[in-house]
Amino acid sequence: MWHYSNSIWEVLVIGLMLAVCIPLRVGLAQEEPKIATEWTRKTNRAVLDDPVLRWADKKDFENAQRGFIAKHSPLTLKDDQGHVVIDMEAYTAFLKPDLPAPDTANPSLWRHALLNTNAGLFKITDRLYQVRGYDLACMAIIEGTVGYVIVDTLTTVEESIWAMELVYKHLGRKPVTAVVITHSHVDHYGGIAGVVRAEDVKAGKVRIVTPAGFTKASLSENVIAGPAMRRRSVYQFGASLPVGPKGNIDGGLGKRIGGVTMSFLPPTDEVTETGQKMTLDEVDFIFEMSPETEAPAEMEFYLPQFRTLCVAENVNQTAHNLYPMRGTLTRDAKAWAGYINQMLDLFPDAEIAFGVHFWPVWGKEEVRNWLKKQRDMYKYLHDQTLRLANLGYTGAEISQMVQLPPSLASEWFNRDYYGAIQNNVRAIYTRYLGWYDGNPANLNPLPPEEASKRMVEFMGGADSVLAKARQSFEAGEYRWVAQVLNLLVFADPKNMAARNLEADALEQLGYQQESSTWRNAYLVGAQELRTGKGIGPIRRTLAMFASMPESDLFDSLAVSLNGPKANAKTIHINFVFTDSSNKYLLTLENSVLNHFKDRQDANADLTIRTDKPSFIKLIFLGTPPAQVVQEGRIEFIGKPDRLGELRELFDPSSGDFNIMLP
Ligand SMILES: [Zn+2]
Repeated sequence: MWHYSNSIWEVLVIGLMLAVCIPLRVGLAQEEPKIATEWTRKTNRAVLDDPVLRWADKKDFENAQRGFIAKHSPLTLKDDQGHVVIDMEAYTAFLKPDLPAPDTANPSLWRHALLNTNAGLFKITDRLYQVRGYDLACMAIIEGTVGYVIVDTLTTVEESIWAMELVYKHLGRKPVTAVVITHSHVDHYGGIAGVVRAEDVKAGKVRIVTPAGFTKASLSENVIAGPAMRRRSVYQFGASLPVGPKGNIDGGLGKRIGGVTMSFLPPTDEVTETGQKMTLDEVDFIFEMSPETEAPAEMEFYLPQFRTLCVAENVNQTAHNLYPMRGTLTRDAKAWAGYINQMLDLFPDAEIAFGVHFWPVWGKEEVRNWLKKQRDMYKYLHDQTLRLANLGYTGAEISQMVQLPPSLASEWFNRDYYGAIQNNVRAIYTRYLGWYDGNPANLNPLPPEEASKRMVEFMGGADSVLAKARQSFEAGEYRWVAQVLNLLVFADPKNMAARNLEADALEQLGYQQESSTWRNAYLVGAQELRTGKGIGPIRRTLAMFASMPESDLFDSLAVSLNGPKANAKTIHINFVFTDSSNKYLLTLENSVLNHFKDRQDANADLTIRTDKPSFIKLIFLGTPPAQVVQEGRIEFIGKPDRLGELRELFDPSSGDFNIMLP
């Protein structure tokens, strides 16, 4: 069993939710969240009158409640140590279906947030069930002949234990015979140790089925930029925000992740091609591979006996992200649309479709409408972005120009609850054309701090800018106020008047957003401007690194080498891993670390024979060599002081850098 909690994106959130905030950096009285201004009230009310939105259509509410069997009540569940794992009650306390949206929330997002409060065990059709609201993601349960086939296992073991308790109590205690993991994101497999035991998998009692490439993608995706992503993800998920009408109301894909223990088990069966068939516990599966879409390794499947399609995370009750704001490689909108189209072609008989974050869709026509219009939403954004780029518009411009046609925008499932059109359009532009807009004035601009100081000076000084910004705030021009005051704050981060006004502007923007991720980002920005608080440093633990492949550990090391400090140094170290028998040569030359598998240098400065945990302690956790040596699982042959020299050259990130301040 591998437990870990670092390498993949959603993990970030957890660490952050639990992180204790660092002390105030600025000792001034903090401002509290404000009420909605008249402008925000008007903007949000106008959403109710938007002719594109079909408020009278209550089908989603019907579907989100259909087949409800049971849930824990109250849905506030704790782990053995008394830490809250799931707290849906915090949301249902203020998200009331019979009350209108408050002024501090976009009514469309509020509607989505209400839908996501429907938690519990639900029957999709005979022998097919879903647990929703016990995590950001969902778990599906298929009754086989002997036991259960589980589809996705939630993010954490704490959550999946609660979900399985619900299953056993209401569907009967039967063994889990197989687990199907739809894709390589941790919210779909991290809870696997709460569903099956590693011994049973080893003994051949349980099969674990994943798309090809799952293991590598799960363990390696986003390792290298992990600390930066972790910090940025606080903004995307609003992890530091209180739950409430002025704070976090939804995560777009569900509510939040609870628990801390993530697990991983390698697959027993990999699906390698579209059309591949498999029978698990007498349930027939036909798979569709969809690599490089929402995740690097992903697959959908059809259950012919149930006439039901699992669309994985490629079809959702929201527009998804082509570029999550935490930062990642941009995703391929064209391929994504193509795979949804292939689902339509391959499985025309589907009468039910379910995904891995939301309530299902029933009815052949409804299923085809859902798939077609999700396909066309991504395809439209893709095609129109390229059309405008080829006419000479830049990403910043196109993001203001593209809007979905009413036939697509009127579907609730195409709204921006998780993704956002402007964000997705810029992702498409970047995927094809990169960050540069083609204008050489933007090729090498002054960096933000320096540019801000000069701009503020050119604009007549801080007082003049602030006075004008106040007028713009009064006029409800919050985007502009945030933009211009960001200059003032970067020119002088001690200017609390500027910081507080920028926070007020961001906050009103947050209250107006339909996208939960944008709302969260704006509100966290406001919070950090007011309080000066970050998320606090991340405490590095052995578990964070234990499951990373050796090669990824060396890659992580290479990106923390301080290049200038390493100037003119040459160090060669042989590594022999006693637990895997793998050998590596690590070289420092030209201020670059390279590692070579199956290679040793006879003239190396040092040979280190070690097991992986000792290597991690020594290199990543800063444990003194003497202490690691004392534990007896590491041996130095040659000049140990060269290792000390190398360790001095690393700049490990604590994941606690400023975003709103320079
Ligand atoms: Zn997911």
